[in-house]
Formats: sequence, structure tokens, C-alpha cells
Amino acid sequence: MASLDRIRTHGFRRWYERQLIECHAWLVSWFLGVIVLVSGLEVAGAPASRPPGVILLLGGLAVTVYSWKRYHLLLEVAERLGEQAVCPRCQAYAKFNIESSGPAPLPDGGDPVLENHGGGVWLRAKCRKCGEEWMLK
Ligand SMILES: [Zn+2]
Repeated sequence: MASLDRIRTHGFRRWYERQLIECHAWLVSWFLGVIVLVSGLEVAGAPASRPPGVILLLGGLAVTVYSWKRYHLLLEVAERLGEQAVCPRCQAYAKFNIESSGPAPLPDGGDPVLENHGGGVWLRAKCRKCGEEWMLK
């Protein structure tokens, strides 16, 4: 998970780009999980190879569900913050510095709320062009 702290160090555009790349990597994982799941169904259909087929099926199901949840979470947070990344006064897109943010990032750079479904994330932004301050929630 890309930390919100990366917005502060690398800028919003770069963070947003990385979020989209990461979430689409999860979409690829989802697709691979579907392939494994369908393969498991096929293998489990033959009586001699039922146990390995069931293991493939369950593994594919786990990858599919987890990947879809990650894809959806990352895309939702990126889109939500991306829609609010425009300065309300001068309409400059993604040209701001982070004054403060919450919840506080973990020491390893992870964001606990982002990791637990993305709720409650906020950023206090200050426009680099005109100095306007606003909240991204
Ligand atoms: Zn501005």
C-alpha cells in the first residue's frame, strides 16, 4: 500500500500515478486468481484428481476475493482524493503541499486506516500557486 505520506514527499501526481499502477496490478492478480479458480474446477471434475483440484479452486477463490478487495479499495481512495485535488480558488490541479494529514502514518510508512478499508483519511492542503488551504477527505 502506498502511504499517504508519499504525497508529501513525492507530490500528489506521482502518488496518484503509483496508486493507479498498484491497483491495476491487483486487477491483474484478480484475473490470474480467476484462471486458477476455473482450472481448479476443471481439475476437481475428474475423480482421480479431486483433492488437488479443490486446493486449486480454494486458492484461486482466496486470491480472487483478496485481489478484488484491494483493487476496489485503492481505486476508491485514489479517485476520492483525486476529485478533491483541485484548488478551490485558482483551480490548479495537484499543485499543493500537505500541511497535515490523518490518521498519522505508521512508522513503517503504512497508513492504518487505509489498510483497514480507507475510511477517515484526510489531508490539509495548501496551494503552491495562491496559498489557499482546503481539506481533502
Ligand atoms: Zn490555488
